[in-house]
Amino acid sequence: MKLSVPQFWRVKENQYKLIITVCGECGRKTMFKRPVCPHCGSSKVEYVESTGVGVLESFTKVYYKTNSSEDRLPELVGVIRLSEGVRVIGEIVGVREDELREDVKVEAVLRRYLSDDPYGVIYYGIKFKPVLTH
Ligand SMILES: [Zn+2]
Repeated sequence: MKLSVPQFWRVKENQYKLIITVCGECGRKTMFKRPVCPHCGSSKVEYVESTGVGVLESFTKVYYKTNSSEDRLPELVGVIRLSEGVRVIGEIVGVREDELREDVKVEAVLRRYLSDDPYGVIYYGIKFKPVLTH
């Protein structure tokens, strides 16, 4: 779903940062900002920003066109286990499919999502890029 400019401004913190909810009751961590812990129901939660560094657990190639796909199909999409222990799904950029391997270290990067908005707005969001070690 495409967001209007006012809608985007309301949710932009979640577009530009990887926020983790930490429960003050059970101590478990959950991806994204949540008012209530999904594990125990407590509203005693705190928010911390992820370092954005993690390990790619698995990935696949997606051919389905979404609003954010633009002309980039197929996209590489992966499950990333962040250093804080929570998992997040994100697009993998900056690497060819034949170069990509599971268990590589990845880091969050800010990249363009959409640019064909009728208002001329360019939307950015978080994607993941392998950290090259060679
Ligand atoms: Zn909890």
